[in-house]
Amino acid sequence: MAPITNGRTLFNEIPTGFPEPGKTTVYDTSKTIDLENVPLNGGVLVKTLVLSADPYMRVQMREADIESYMPPFIVGQPIFSLGVGKILRSERDGFKPGGYVYGLLDHAEYSLPSPDVPVFGIRVFNPEPGLQYSAYVGAGGMPGQTSYYGWKEYANAKAGETVFVSGGAGPVGSLVIQLAKQDGLKVIASAGSDEKVQFCKDVGADVVFNYKTASTLDILRQEGPLNIYWDNVGGTTLDAAIENAANHARFLECGAISQYNSKDGVNMKNLDQIYARRITLYGFLISDLAPKWEEEFYKVIPKKLASGEFKFREDITTGLENSGQAIRDVQIGANTGKKVIVVAQE
Ligand code: NAP
Repeated sequence: MAPITNGRTLFNEIPTGFPEPGKTTVYDTSKTIDLENVPLNGGVLVKTLVLSADPYMRVQMREADIESYMPPFIVGQPIFSLGVGKILRSERDGFKPGGYVYGLLDHAEYSLPSPDVPVFGIRVFNPEPGLQYSAYVGAGGMPGQTSYYGWKEYANAKAGETVFVSGGAGPVGSLVIQLAKQDGLKVIASAGSDEKVQFCKDVGADVVFNYKTASTLDILRQEGPLNIYWDNVGGTTLDAAIENAANHARFLECGAISQYNSKDGVNMKNLDQIYARRITLYGFLISDLAPKWEEEFYKVIPKKLASGEFKFREDITTGLENSGQAIRDVQIGANTGKKVIVVAQE
């Protein structure tokens, strides 16, 4: 078989605000790959099926010498994210051709990903019967793990308590809502469109509001005080949650998407209430909690997703050439559910 084009999405330029497809990232078709003869050097050749577009990818669009929790994208090189692929050839024990892998993949149609990257190196998996493999980049993968690990480790939830979940309609927030309902809590959730508000209701939230059209402070004053706040957005929403916290509240600091594309305009007025109300803030990364909770997650959650006991929603972008737009959509809130880029069919 002759070499074929290997389409890739390259990092092109560090953005100053929101990432822009065609500028921040470019789609490149200049490389070919010989699938039968490319040397594996002890590794695995993978055909990419789906890729994830995640909020944290904006953090990777930075100067290469700045430290952060995920490695930077390198200008001129493919960007990478979690994904699912099919093994085409392998020289590595345990990776059989025809099997599925989940882990960090280049945004390329074909690649030789490493199993040796900590936490998110590729691993073989068998999709739960009845569960599509794309779910393994969403509720059945990293975002769902974030919800499960964080909730189990830090929420210390008691039936009858009140939790507020910002970013409630995304893969992280919507699973947190369902875990909290299972534990018997009253759940307040926020999201940025009426469609997303409806989804939060569909997964069981008791009080849901569109933070773009309703006042977060007013709702929390009415429906609080908060025993738990699951923070996906940071900024002034966090400040409003502090103002409405109960004494000894637990704040699960999962993300701060309101600040990933701009650091301007954040005016925190209530930080003194952290000590006054004896609030505990838990900043956490999924990578730290994985050794403790991963095995339990895979035993429990994929089954509940497959049976429909836990609901999830995907928002599909078709074609690797559109991955730059998919990444932007997540940052601006244009995604309705877990943003999945479908690169190829099996
Ligand atoms: P997601 O909901 O699929 O996408 C991000 C959503 O954030 C957007 O759809 C948008 O929805 C919302 N958003 C964007 N700008 C906002 C703003 N200025 N204010 C409020 N909301 C805004 O994301 P996800 O994958 O579930 O992730 C949710 C959060 O968890 C993110 O902050 C992410 O970084 C974090 N996270 C943390 C870890 C960890 O290890 N700590 C792991 C995974 C994810 P709206 O339409 O509702 O605005």
